[in-house]
Amino acid sequence: MNPARLARFHDCPRYFICPLCHAELNLAGTSLRCPNRHTFDIAKQGYVNLAPAAKQSQFYSKESFANRGRILNAGYYSHIASAVLAAVRTHCPANPRPAVLDAGCGEGFYARAVQQANPQADVLAFDISKDSVQQAAREDTSLAVRWFVGNLADLPLRDAAVDCILDVFSPVHYGEFGRVLRPGGIVVKVVPGARHDEQLRELASAHLRHTDYSNEQMVDQFARHFDVLDTRLVSQTFAMPPDDVRAFAHMTPLLFNVDIDALDLGQIHELTVEAQVLVGRNRADSTCAQQHGVAHVVAHEGEVEA
Ligand SMILES: [Zn+2]
Repeated sequence: MNPARLARFHDCPRYFICPLCHAELNLAGTSLRCPNRHTFDIAKQGYVNLAPAAKQSQFYSKESFANRGRILNAGYYSHIASAVLAAVRTHCPANPRPAVLDAGCGEGFYARAVQQANPQADVLAFDISKDSVQQAAREDTSLAVRWFVGNLADLPLRDAAVDCILDVFSPVHYGEFGRVLRPGGIVVKVVPGARHDEQLRELASAHLRHTDYSNEQMVDQFARHFDVLDTRLVSQTFAMPPDDVRAFAHMTPLLFNVDIDALDLGQIHELTVEAQVLVGRNRADSTCAQQHGVAHVVAHEGEVEA
């Protein structure tokens, strides 16, 4: 294997633990291995599968990742990426080598942006979907992001290992976030705004159970677990060519249960991409909560988003 693809895993005991026995993981040849000889190979694309038994969601096919890649690379989410970078820049605790975890990195758009803007940072990016991590690692020209497939409910990471967690359009597991964050560390959580995709939602209204969308409950949950430092609404409406409208309709979780061929997508000429960016600080007592087994899984309909 290309040594440049291995280099980022030399210091893996600093962050990673064995997903089976929770012992320290070390680089051994082209694998990560724990003292109990559980072994996880580094794939040729430069990621490690630390959740070999994980099942993939039926909705996240290679095709939907291709559509997402097309939409992200076309710049329709660049204003959201800028807001995420600004939040990290402003609120991430001062550290010459900050560790940033992207929890639910998808095809790696935000993790790559954070690594590029912060070359001194250790960016750890994981997703439960092997296909998405594979694509993310393949497109990572920095060869610096530590990509891995992992279980959100049982992260193969040390306690208090990271300064910052990005949770971009992804379900949240507050117990694990509190455990892996250092005291005073921050979470940057991005949820869809109320006007997100409104043109598509209106078009598909006959096929949807809820046509209006509120992120209020998610925002409340967040404030119960973290000291909220900042909330910001970022919104942009784009004129969109038909091919991009089609790609968008195929990638948005909003329409996962809708027959997209039955929609007259030709009626849509512009689309609003809107998100709320929340920044919260880890409370000092969150580790105690974790030790006492308090952990909440929160995944609302509509939370998993582009
Ligand atoms: Zn082990």
